Order: sequence, then structure tokens, then C-alpha cells
Amino acid sequence: MGLNCSIEWTDHSANLWWGCTHHGPGCLNCYAELLAKRVGGQRWGSLWGPDRPRRYIAGWRSTLNGAVRIAREKRRRQMVFINDMSDLFEDPDKHTGPMINDHGETLNIHNRQIATTTGWDPLRISHLVDMFFESLNDYPSLIFQLLTKRPNRTLEVLKSQATRLGVVSFPNVWLGTSINELNDKAKADILSLTQSRAFVDKLFVSYEPATGPCDLRGLPDLTLSSLDWIITGGESGHDARLFDLDWMHQTQTQASAANIAVFNKQLGSNPLQRDEITFVNGTKHADISGWPPILRVRDFPISNEEFTFVS
Ligand code: SF4
Repeated sequence: MGLNCSIEWTDHSANLWWGCTHHGPGCLNCYAELLAKRVGGQRWGSLWGPDRPRRYIAGWRSTLNGAVRIAREKRRRQMVFINDMSDLFEDPDKHTGPMINDHGETLNIHNRQIATTTGWDPLRISHLVDMFFESLNDYPSLIFQLLTKRPNRTLEVLKSQATRLGVVSFPNVWLGTSINELNDKAKADILSLTQSRAFVDKLFVSYEPATGPCDLRGLPDLTLSSLDWIITGGESGHDARLFDLDWMHQTQTQASAANIAVFNKQLGSNPLQRDEITFVNGTKHADISGWPPILRVRDFPISNEEFTFVS
């Protein structure tokens, strides 16, 4: 388990801010929203909605520096999931609320310094996105995993950041989008994602929580061949929707045939074929040792050599 993180397909998570706005049915059971409410709802109220505050996470760089130290010790690059408590690609122009600290005070910014000082500019999501992209070059031993429900914004953001910073791409970024099944919306989202191909190292799809099948034959060949990685998993929690293990198997088989690395994350709290699971450790069925052997696949889109530490 990494710093602040128990997500199986990454090593660590780091957040620049907490809070978001719902963006379609995939946000129905947003775990980040529930967690934020549980952790600090009394102090800052809801962080979800276009006019609600976002909570700035001052320690994001410390988390990255900690991940670098671990990379050095293990001689292995570390993956960092950025903003698992928000969406890095939320449209800053649509957020009108303040950015606050842990005490609920409004934060301002001046020359990249962030404080409650009056007279400075209000701190916005866009400042933090700029600061994040400016930092990427400082961390060659980290792989930044960006997962968004707004893939229609990724090309615009990556292009403008690359232009601003005078670079052609971001070689330590993996960019992904979340889907729940391969319906028309998901197809359009994956197509949008692939428009950003030239700006990042890897493209991936997180098919989780899966609520219906993801038959990859529904994607055009060109779109499919642009993908490097697919994560699959059923929903967890009390109200988890049913997860059919056959969906996972079908997607895994089709992805492997298309040379896409597969990471089967969890069977979720409500798997259909319960009798095929021989061992249960935890409620989300994430321990692969109890799964049907054929589904025990957890690959990454790069080799062990490519994971080797770089200073
Ligand atoms: S985009 Fe992600 S963080 Fe934002 S509301 Fe939806 S599920 Fe939650």
C-alpha cells in the first residue's frame, strides 16, 4: 500500500484539491463525495457543486516528494493517482465557489504563494492545474495517472499547457477515462480520450464500477489500437449494483487480443457468480487469490525495465 492510498492499480494518490461537481450517472455513488462528507462535512460543508468550496490540499508536493523517496529506495518508478478526490479536468470556468483551507478560510494566491492574505487574487482551480503541469518535469521517477470523467476537455487542457510550458508532450503522464459499460456515451468519451494520444505516454480506460457489459467490438479499430490499458471492476459499498463476472472475462479476452494490458481490480460487493469465489477477504472482493483463476490478471502497460528508477 502506498502513501494515502489503497487503490490496487496505483502506488500512491495525491490531491491538489477535494471537491467536484456531478457529471452524469457515473457520479451517482461518488465515493469521494461520501468520504469528504465523513471526514470534514462538519467543518467545510459540502464540497460538491459548481458554487461550493473546494478544499486545497497543501501537502500535495510533500506526497510527491515522499513517492520519490520510495522510488529511490525500491529502485522502481512509482505511480501516483492524481486527484482521486476530485477531477483534474473539471472546467474552472464553471466553478464559482472559493478555494478554502482546512479551517474553511478562503485562500488567495500571489506569485505562486498561497495564503489567506487579503489583496491577493482568489485561488482558483486553474492556478492549481497550472502548478501541477509546471511540476511534472521535477518528477521523472513518478508516473502520473490522471483519470477523468471529462475526456472532452483533455485535449484542450493538454494542448494549452504544452504550449504554455514550451513542451511537445508529458512523457510521465498516463491519461484515462471512466466508463460503466460500453454505451454510446462511453464510446464518445473513449473517442475524445484518444484525441489526446500525442500528449501523453499511455491512454487507459477504467471500466469501473461496471454496471453493464463492455464489448470492445463496439469500438472502431483505430480507437481500440490507441488504448494501452484497461482496468475492470465491480461496484463496492452497501448499494453496489450487480456485477457479472462474464463481463470482466469478455473485456479481458478482447483487450488481450488487441494487445491492451488488463488490470482486473475487484469483483465488487455484489458479484453475480458468488459461488465461483472461493475465498473472501474484505467486502469488495479485491483479493485475487479467491477469484476464478482465469480472472486473476493484473498487468500494467509498461514492462519491468520501464518501471526501473530514473533520477
Ligand atoms: S467526476 Fe469523479 S469526483 Fe467528480 S463527482 Fe464524478 S465521480 Fe465524483
